[in-house]
Amino acid sequence: MAKQEDLFKNVISHAKEYGYIFASSEIYDGISAVYDYGQNGAELKNNIKEYWWRSMTQLHQNIVGIDAAILMHPTTWKASGHVDAFNDPLIDNKDSKKRYRADVLVEDHAEKLLQKAEKEIAKAKKRFGDDFDEEMYKETNPRVKRYLGERKEILERLAKSLTEENLADVKALIEELEIADPETGSKNWTEVRQFNLMFGTKLGASAESAQQLYLRPETAQGIFVNFLNVQKTGRMKIPFGIAQIGKAFRNEIVARQFIFRMREFEQMEMQFFVRPGQELEWYEKWKETRLNWHRSLGLGEENYRFHDHEKLAHYANAAADIEFDFPFGFKELEGIHSRTDFDLKAHEEHSGKKLRFYDPEMKENYVPYVIETSIGLDRMFLAVLSASLKDEQLEDGSSRIVLKLPAVLAPTKAAILPLVKKDGLPEMAQKIVDDLKWDFRVQYDEKDAIGRRYRRQDAAGTPLCITVDHDSLEDESVTVRFRDSMEQKRVHINELAGLIKKETDFRTWMEGYVD
Ligand code: ATP
Repeated sequence: MAKQEDLFKNVISHAKEYGYIFASSEIYDGISAVYDYGQNGAELKNNIKEYWWRSMTQLHQNIVGIDAAILMHPTTWKASGHVDAFNDPLIDNKDSKKRYRADVLVEDHAEKLLQKAEKEIAKAKKRFGDDFDEEMYKETNPRVKRYLGERKEILERLAKSLTEENLADVKALIEELEIADPETGSKNWTEVRQFNLMFGTKLGASAESAQQLYLRPETAQGIFVNFLNVQKTGRMKIPFGIAQIGKAFRNEIVARQFIFRMREFEQMEMQFFVRPGQELEWYEKWKETRLNWHRSLGLGEENYRFHDHEKLAHYANAAADIEFDFPFGFKELEGIHSRTDFDLKAHEEHSGKKLRFYDPEMKENYVPYVIETSIGLDRMFLAVLSASLKDEQLEDGSSRIVLKLPAVLAPTKAAILPLVKKDGLPEMAQKIVDDLKWDFRVQYDEKDAIGRRYRRQDAAGTPLCITVDHDSLEDESVTVRFRDSMEQKRVHINELAGLIKKETDFRTWMEGYVD
């Protein structure tokens, strides 16, 4: 555990040191759970957005993208259920005065049971070798059976109490499980209360006439209210999708995990409209498509797992999370939800406008069903950053800090380095920069010895270094050094653009992962 905490601390300090993430308004001591992206962070974030946007809207002929406003008509949030039901159950510890999400306390307890079971299974696997039958072991080993059984029971009871809004039972569960404040160990809890997560604001000049508005807590509703606009003007036929990237705001109760849980964050959402009755088929398909998108980035297959929801939101008939192994354990990175026709129907009722599709094959008008894929851009950023940061021991006994970002996402694709600051080498390096900058983000760097410059670029995540030396003046070739393998090769300057493209191109990374 201590090691994991160290890793997380390293990620946070590295993010600051290399211009990825700063606390917001830092000179005023920051504002809780709000962050700013620095010069490298903004590039990485844009590249993640582009990777997602292109994979949705460019690789699928039947998905288009929009950009809806953050402020929406207030009835939107009545229709969507957010005014009445966008609540988190919170609990306070009377001794530490710390506030927690009651459901998360219980889920973390259940996760510990799972970890205990997995530890036993791993031990047995080692002992039995090739003959090991994991399923059989889970069913027969009393300890593993108990851990897994208890976990299931706890999660089922939590789901039931939350669905029935039985907050007294959530409190009872916390007490029965003897869950303590993770920071202080105190078990002196208040009652569990509901807390609405929407940020309110006012529209209009005078206090009397001002209209109560909300900053959108999810981007999805901007898609639903535009369903017919897009379908009609884009002449879209079902099945089709609408994608959107944008800010969302939630007044989160507990926001202590860096950019994992923020009060202002960005979502990348896609709503896919299908025929009623076909939604579960599409749900399975989108689960697979989205996992493949993640796999394409090569952050490690073992870092992902699906978590099927026990407690379904009021609008869903199936839901799963893609969880990622963050430095603080497996947590939700993306949600895939079968939202039925709940949202469009609710907007029909509240607006009095029909939101239907005439299906020429079925010769029928209907409200489409919806599969949603919803990923937090900032969480994706954290996943990429934390899986990429490595402290490597090298063969010569030295070590290096290297940020092995997927090259397609790296802020700077190549650094151009004159070996020395004289003899015409800077001029030649600058000429290379001037040529490559039209197609790639490249950086000129002449300060310090070449080894230190390599290390600096490694730590910043630059996949390629291009060194200009005295031979370059004669034969127009340069040394290309690859960040991950540290291999070097000699390349003619005319081949540089092709090489960078091959290493960093969307197609190179994504092509093997589309169906
Ligand atoms: P959680 O259970 O962690 O609060 P959620 O289930 O409420 O998340 P959704 O409403 O499904 O999240 O939102 C979709 C995605 O938006 C999440 O998978 C996550 O990546 C991202 N997200 C949600 N809340 C936040 C937040 N406060 N900060 C950053 N990203 C968030």
